[in-house]
Amino acid sequence: MARAAVPGRLSGRLAWRVGRLVAARDETPSARTLVLDVPDWPGHQAGQHVDVRLTAEDGYTAQRSYSIANAADGGRLELTVQRVPEGEVSEYLTGVYRVGDPVEIRGPVGGWFVWRPAEPDPVLLVGGGSGIVPLMAMIRARKAGGSRVPFRLIYSVRSPEDGYYADELRTRARDDSGLDVAYVYTRRAPRNWPEPPRRVGVAALNTAGWPPELAPLCYVCGPTGFVETVADTLVALGHDPARVRTERFGPTGG
Ligand SMILES: Cc1cc2nc3c(=O)[nH]c(=O)nc-3n(C[C@H](O)[C@H](O)[C@H](O)COP(=O)(O)OP(=O)(O)OC[C@H]3O[C@@H](n4cnc5c(N)ncnc54)[C@H](O)[C@@H]3O)c2cc1C
Repeated sequence: MARAAVPGRLSGRLAWRVGRLVAARDETPSARTLVLDVPDWPGHQAGQHVDVRLTAEDGYTAQRSYSIANAADGGRLELTVQRVPEGEVSEYLTGVYRVGDPVEIRGPVGGWFVWRPAEPDPVLLVGGGSGIVPLMAMIRARKAGGSRVPFRLIYSVRSPEDGYYADELRTRARDDSGLDVAYVYTRRAPRNWPEPPRRVGVAALNTAGWPPELAPLCYVCGPTGFVETVADTLVALGHDPARVRTERFGPTGG
């Protein structure tokens, strides 16, 4: 699946562009960040995603969606891909795809699940697993755009080893009083963690979120079940459904 087809004649966000991998780093034992250089990239907003298309030598293609992890930065795009066992595209991108290899990219996609640095309201981010990716783009865009709007992140991971961007989140939260980061461990917590493993529910959203009276913008991203549970709980707590924005990381093959 290494050959990238010639980009189409469509322009703008519908065009397939050929990007190349310029660097990669492991985020966890099963997740890898790909740093791509995409010529003529039109720019993006935090929260958007791209379509990635791989083409095999025999012409077979496979296409999947991946959120953009970085704030807008010219033609540089960062994607973080979680390896799904037996996953056609994610196993290739995390295990086989090498620096210098091409890949076709289309986008950016999405106009609702976005955050702009001009937004004046406090923000609650709730991510489950790889659902942190577009939320990290928002955290990075807030800094890059000079926003002082207070952000709170609640990040649900199975165990301490599964958290993406751990060092960066620790440093950003330490150096920025406007950013709070709270982890919720669902299977195994670190030693001496004050509470047993649990899921994100009323307790975590009350303790580490914002009260609905502050009318925060809420962004919830992760597996479909996680997103639906968290969004329903936020609404039950009194948050305006119109201010709870969701992104479901369901399968995108087909
Ligand atoms: C808007 C959007 C943004 C996304 N952003 C990211 C991202 O930033 N990082 C990331 O790692 N993934 C992201 N995904 C998921 C991604 O598009 C693929 O679905 C995922 O990489 C699996 O593809 P695959 O080809 O490896 O697996 P497939 O070959 O398609 O599937 C293999 C098996 O895994 C199951 N499966 C596939 N996808 C998932 C899934 N997401 N959750 C649970 N089971 C699944 C399938 O049902 C099948 O049984 C996003 C999805 C959407 C819709």
